[in-house]
Amino acid sequence: MAESTHFYELFQPSHYNVFLDINRATKQISGTSTITGDAKETGIAIHQKYMTISAVTADGQAVPFTFDDETEAIHIELTKTGETTLAIDFSAPLTDSMMGIYPSYYELNGEKKQLIGTQFETTAARQAFPCVDEPEAKATFDLAIKFDEQPGETIISNMPEVKTENGVHYFDTTVRMSSYLIAFAFGDLQSKLTTTKSGVQVGVFATKAHQAKELDFALDIAKRSIEFYEDFYQTPYPLPHSWQLALPDFSAGAMENWGLVTYREAYLLLDPDNTAFETKQRVATVIAHELAHQWFGDLVTMKWWDDLWLNESFANMMEYVAIDAIEPDWHIWEAFQTGEAPMALQRDATDGVQSVHVQVEDPAEIDALFDSAIVYAKGARMLVMVRALIGDDALRAGLKNYFATHHYGNATGADLWAALGAASGMDVGAIMTSWLEQPGYPVVSAQVVDGKLTIHQQQFFIGDGKDAGRQWQVPLNSNYDAAPAIFADTDATLGDYAELRQASGEPFRLNVGNNSHFIVKYDDTLLQDILAHLDDLDAIAQLQLLQDLRLLAEGQQISYADIVPLLPRFAASHSAIVNDVLYGVAANLKKFVKEGSAEEQQLRALFGQLSGDQIARLGWLPRAGESNDDQLTRPTILSAALYAKDDATLQAAHDIFTANQDNLAGLPAAVRVYILANEVENFGSAALFDQLLNDYRKSSDASYKADIAAALPTTPDSDLVAKLIGVFEDADTIKPQDLRAWYRGVLAHKGQQAAWDWIRNDWQWLEDTVGGDMEFTTYITVTTGVFHTPERLAEFKAFFEPKINTPGLTREINMDTKVIATRVALVEAEKDAVNAAVAQTVKD
Ligand SMILES: [Zn+2]
Repeated sequence: MAESTHFYELFQPSHYNVFLDINRATKQISGTSTITGDAKETGIAIHQKYMTISAVTADGQAVPFTFDDETEAIHIELTKTGETTLAIDFSAPLTDSMMGIYPSYYELNGEKKQLIGTQFETTAARQAFPCVDEPEAKATFDLAIKFDEQPGETIISNMPEVKTENGVHYFDTTVRMSSYLIAFAFGDLQSKLTTTKSGVQVGVFATKAHQAKELDFALDIAKRSIEFYEDFYQTPYPLPHSWQLALPDFSAGAMENWGLVTYREAYLLLDPDNTAFETKQRVATVIAHELAHQWFGDLVTMKWWDDLWLNESFANMMEYVAIDAIEPDWHIWEAFQTGEAPMALQRDATDGVQSVHVQVEDPAEIDALFDSAIVYAKGARMLVMVRALIGDDALRAGLKNYFATHHYGNATGADLWAALGAASGMDVGAIMTSWLEQPGYPVVSAQVVDGKLTIHQQQFFIGDGKDAGRQWQVPLNSNYDAAPAIFADTDATLGDYAELRQASGEPFRLNVGNNSHFIVKYDDTLLQDILAHLDDLDAIAQLQLLQDLRLLAEGQQISYADIVPLLPRFAASHSAIVNDVLYGVAANLKKFVKEGSAEEQQLRALFGQLSGDQIARLGWLPRAGESNDDQLTRPTILSAALYAKDDATLQAAHDIFTANQDNLAGLPAAVRVYILANEVENFGSAALFDQLLNDYRKSSDASYKADIAAALPTTPDSDLVAKLIGVFEDADTIKPQDLRAWYRGVLAHKGQQAAWDWIRNDWQWLEDTVGGDMEFTTYITVTTGVFHTPERLAEFKAFFEPKINTPGLTREINMDTKVIATRVALVEAEKDAVNAAVAQTVKD
């Protein structure tokens, strides 16, 4: 093979004829991939993985070839360069890896059934058919698929089917597209269809294990999202249809295959008569995210995987832009503030984190790029920052141009900045480069020094960090005109503080709206001024204040002991996001107490004190006609009340359980998990455990199943913990896609030792089962999220350090070791002061 690692430089495909014969019974795939393209050299390489290649011809003549899984290649010797048609005969096993072509399993009326689907991103199209499997290698595709078809089964793909002949289904030629976006699926499907006002057919597909009404919500959101994007992008949806398909086995959340988007069932289907508002918001944003990609990612695709952020950051911002436009009453940007913003700020503060833009070549490293806190959340915050700077008119005009220039082709980040720069007249690229290419973010300190208001930026770290002198072009968004729009220096003096304060009439603030990716450290003068006017702040500003203080405490720039006395001041808020951040800070105090200690009692008392009035106000059960904020606040409060272990509260939940024990799935979805968890933890029995685990096995309701998966691990009974871990590897009970949530749940409760023993003992099984999957490293991340003692840190190092050179795991192991070590050090340094502050606050 040539030195190049990009096969596209050797052979540039223009058209594929792919024939596939898929047999579920024998678990075999065979077929022929016929590729017309331009050979740039005589020695070329075509991707394959896990295949047996039986013959290769070039323009009808047999040519010499070899293939191996190490380079994931078929190496072919041609006799000439230039226009060439290759025909490659292959066979491959049909495996349960959730990558390539794979089966999903489910039960219908007690009968075990299969649905075949695909997942090709990032580098698994090469497991389905030989191809140049790189985003830049765009081509048109004719798919022809045969399978062991049963009466009544349906097959769908990116494009409409044009004919069936001798059991072979032929699909219309695709537009020019990347291989990782090809998709198809077949099985016993139900569907609901509609049409957008521009004539695009929209459909939702699912197995018949679901009620038909579960498809309605997604159909409505998908239709309106496409209509929104056609208008916002000023670019028509490029294909005749947009299918949304729920797959029972699915590794990621969803996948934006062009014209055939695939989803986890939990992210597409919902019961319109009993679903929490928060779940509806999540499903809607996932659908809007994938549909944003139909243009941004599918129509225009990143040139190489180093610009993956371009796809994901953008879709992650647009999911909020779209849902905010079609459901303005939801205030969906508030969810951005409690979800993406803190996730990005937390992860991005650890030294060693990746920058948003990363150079990458190896396929295993490509999958490790999907660091959701960085590529999705931080990237989205960067684009939110751009949107705030240039405004929606310039954003839309720039995008329209970007799509018109690069459609059916590829682009880089620089191309996007150029388009947005031309539309806005701002040098967007210069501002964004500092955010894109550098890891981390600044803390901007604001101080009154000798009567002057000054600001200073420096990289913010949680834990040890090497100060590399990084600087950012910071959009300050101050409420004082004296502050520059973009702060690019390390220091600035804004003027005489007393005069500025007098002229403005309000406390000095930075990052108003919390749209820029930095945190603020106010000195005591400025902070006390803000706190004295706390009631003037809107919900996002209050959230931001607590969030920034929490981060500063995690970074040991202030003490958690200073934050604790402030918490009661936020406890009466009716804002869901203020309550979310309030109890998020409170939950962070749990690491400072030992189980069963007097300090833990005090902390539980604090939770009770904070939540008492809200529990009385909201009650356990949803009420008709209540506000979105109340619907979203209640679960936060119930969770706090359960931690507080207030007898009356626990008894009230127990009574609701008892009254509904014949129909637990029918409990109001928004509070069901707390009622179940209370029952398992405080009133549990082996019989209840078996009943819930049995419900879990039988139910096709993803949200009820998620509730059971959250509730059962709270059991204090070690025999039941053992029983639970005993089914971790039983795919008929817990699907591999859902295992991580169970593992995390047990690890975070009384079963911690057992769960930690399981993952260490059965690591090889885990690697064999989900190791090929981009979610694999998150098993390490969730472990890290729980550990906070020196003993666990030592065990974590002993287990993971020997694995540090495993491709794709290196960064995560390094990062996570540092994260736990930092937390252990913080607990050591602060626990006495924090626990004293909790005791004092409870007394006051
Ligand atoms: Zn995406």
